[in-house]
Amino acid sequence: MHVVLLGPPGSGKGTQAERLAAKLSVPAISTGEMLRAAVAQGSALGARVEGVMASGQLVSDELMAEVVQDRLAKDDCKGGFLLDGYPRTAAQTQTLDDILDDLGERLDHVIYLSVPEEELVRRALLRQRDDDTEEVIQERLRVYRNETEPLVAHYEQAGLLRRVDGDRSMDEVTAAMLEAIR
Ligand code: ADP
Repeated sequence: MHVVLLGPPGSGKGTQAERLAAKLSVPAISTGEMLRAAVAQGSALGARVEGVMASGQLVSDELMAEVVQDRLAKDDCKGGFLLDGYPRTAAQTQTLDDILDDLGERLDHVIYLSVPEEELVRRALLRQRDDDTEEVIQERLRVYRNETEPLVAHYEQAGLLRRVDGDRSMDEVTAAMLEAIR
């Protein structure tokens, strides 16, 4: 089972990725979490991405390709995976396709968690991380709209998109996601 979770910042992707991955017995792979861990460890990767992340911008497609390629080659991904936070750009969809091709696999589902804009802003301000200003939150939403939202149409055309209403309780959303990929 190879699943991508798509949705704006604040849509609940991280929480739902963990829950769904447990149900599907595949690893939940969050690129945002991987990068934050790298920053916390003070690794070379962390040093390269820290400033970009703090500004709300995206890490370069080239660097992300290395990170994701390495991660998806690990043994725990042999039976599938649930990707949270990747792909985020058109170039990244191509990279993911190439990686899957090399593995002799293909994507099964892209779940799109849709949440109204005003709810996203409300949630973002509630769970604000220390380094997040409202400006950075707005920048993340802007980058999402410009770079990532177009992927919804891309995956819709590919017949892979499963829309799920994310403006409900966490349990209802998890149930709807499971139903969407049955
Ligand atoms: P959010 O806080 O928007 O839910 P994440 O936790 O998924 O975002 O990611 C945090 C930050 O990590 C992003 O704003 C971006 O700078 C970087 N990042 C994560 N995944 C990617 C990716 N696929 N491409 C580029 N940058 C990424």
